[in-house]
Amino acid sequence: MKPSAGLIVVLAVVGVIILLGFGGAWLYVTYRNLDRSLSPVVDELFARIQDGTFAQTYDTHTTEEFRRVVPRDQYQALADACKTYLGALQSKTLQQFNFRGDMSGSYAFVAYAAHFERGPATITVTFKKAGDRWLILNWNVQSPVFQQALAQAACPHCGNPHGLGAKFCPNCGKPLTTDESASADKAPAATP
Ligand SMILES: [Zn+2]
Repeated sequence: MKPSAGLIVVLAVVGVIILLGFGGAWLYVTYRNLDRSLSPVVDELFARIQDGTFAQTYDTHTTEEFRRVVPRDQYQALADACKTYLGALQSKTLQQFNFRGDMSGSYAFVAYAAHFERGPATITVTFKKAGDRWLILNWNVQSPVFQQALAQAACPHCGNPHGLGAKFCPNCGKPLTTDESASADKAPAATP
C-alpha cells in the first residue's frame, strides 16, 4: 500500500500551511507582547519629557552601554528638541519590531509611527532586558518638523546649518547667539 503522489502533495501543502500558521501566530503573539510591555515605557519617556522629570530617566531607564556612548547632556538635548519642536506625544502605532534573545541577553527593537502636537515623527528604540525591565540601548526620534527647524537654523555668520540648540557654529566656530558681540561679527567688512 503505497500512498499516492497526490496524497503526498496534499500532506506537504497541509504541512506548509500549518507551519505558516504557527509562524504567523508566533509573530502575532510576539508583536502583541512586545507592544504591551514596551509601549508603556515609550509613553512614560515622552510624558516625562513634558513634565520636566526626563533627566532622571538617564540613570533609571538606560543601559550602561548606552550611557557610555550618549552623554547626559546629549540625552537631555534630544528630549528638549522633542519638547520644543514636537510638543506632546498624542498617539503612536507599532510599525516594525524585532526580537532577539541569546546568551548575551534579550533585545527588542521597535519602530513607532507617532503623532505629536506639531507633526508626525518616527520613534525607534532598541531595548535590552535587565531583570524584568526593558532598558534603552538606543533611541532616536525622526521628524520632518526637525528638518524644517534645522533648515531655518542657519549660522548668521556663514549660513551653514547647525544642530538644534547648538551654541557655536560647527563650520566657522562663531557663537550662534544674537547678542551684541555676535551681531558685531556679522559685518566685519564694513569696519575699516
Ligand atoms: Zn558659521
